[in-house]
Amino acid sequence: MSATANKNKEQKSPPLLELRGISFAAADKPIVSDVDLTLEQGEIGAIIGPSGSGKSTLMRLIAGFELPHGGSIMMNGQTLSTTEHSVEPENRGVGMVFQDIVMFPHLTVAQNIAFGISRWQPDKQQERIRELLSLFGLPGFEDRYPHSLSGGEQQRIALARSMARRPNLLLLDEAFSSLDFVHRQKLVPQVREILKNENISAILVTHDHNEAFVLADQVGIMQNGHLEQWDTPFNLYHKPGNRFAARFVGEGVLIAAKVIDTQKVQTAIGIHSLDNSDNLQIGDRVEMLLRPDDILHDDESDFKGKVLQKSFRGSHFLYQVQLESNEQIFCLADSHHDHRIGEWIGLNSNIEHVVIFNDIDK
Ligand code: ADP
Ligand code: MG
Repeated sequence: MSATANKNKEQKSPPLLELRGISFAAADKPIVSDVDLTLEQGEIGAIIGPSGSGKSTLMRLIAGFELPHGGSIMMNGQTLSTTEHSVEPENRGVGMVFQDIVMFPHLTVAQNIAFGISRWQPDKQQERIRELLSLFGLPGFEDRYPHSLSGGEQQRIALARSMARRPNLLLLDEAFSSLDFVHRQKLVPQVREILKNENISAILVTHDHNEAFVLADQVGIMQNGHLEQWDTPFNLYHKPGNRFAARFVGEGVLIAAKVIDTQKVQTAIGIHSLDNSDNLQIGDRVEMLLRPDDILHDDESDFKGKVLQKSFRGSHFLYQVQLESNEQIFCLADSHHDHRIGEWIGLNSNIEHVVIFNDIDK
């Protein structure tokens, strides 16, 4: 086969996971609606969304615990689920970790991890256990019992166990939610590194967008069973597809904007250029998204806002200010700039991406 033919063949290799039009209902109530999603080998995804939006149900569909009422799920080009046909959960190469850590209390750490690889040669098992314990920063923990471990250590063991068999895909449903902030902040980036080293793909379900942003390459927002956007963390934050996504990932406000030119909008904080992909017309009244980092405090600036509230964040202040237009926006300031509530402070616009919402994007 020629190099070109080889290359073509490589390009055609199907994605690790592909959901097409996946729908699921319980008692005629739609719970997951028409979800499309693609994950490449080695890629990490995350799904965020409010409680009850269908995230766990989507995971159960991918794991094969539920059959879809519409659509299909493919893995490496093979069909896992359709409305008629389903590969058994244990034959999918999909591992799952939940919020509630389940370890066998009467088994040691090594025996717990070995659970999914009990058919392997004993020396291969031991080698894999040693490797995983070292990856998770718990070398020498083989003979410990679960009761002697902290919550964070137990969660590491549960993660190690789920990776022992080198699954094609790991589903982490709120897997870090039972850990406190300090442990979570340490563990999540470590898990990303381990997954990448092991070339294991994963999907994390969480209601915390910061956790999703740290772990994942692609993040989706679920609302009422719909996957609203499946995009990089950067795009989700800077180019949210609708108001819901904009509000769900991070702080921000919407201010009034008027289209004054096919490429420009006028707002209380000045005129801004836009790439007019929505075909806005001159005179259209729309809204512009402002993130806190879009407006910076600057004592030299003549453009002012009145401080309504402030919160000290260590490295910076987050001010809420009111403009002369009466609109309220956020602004970041260096943490040495401690201004009083009620004081008028200078503002500079630092907008790199103009995000506009019209009436259709509600
Ligand atoms: P999330 O994980 O986003 O919090 P879930 O997927 O757990 O959401 O649930 C979404 C909604 O579907 C909830 O209102 C839940 O009560 C409902 N639900 C999920 N599975 C079933 C089921 N098998 N039967 C009835 N209702 C269900
Ligand atoms: Mg859930």
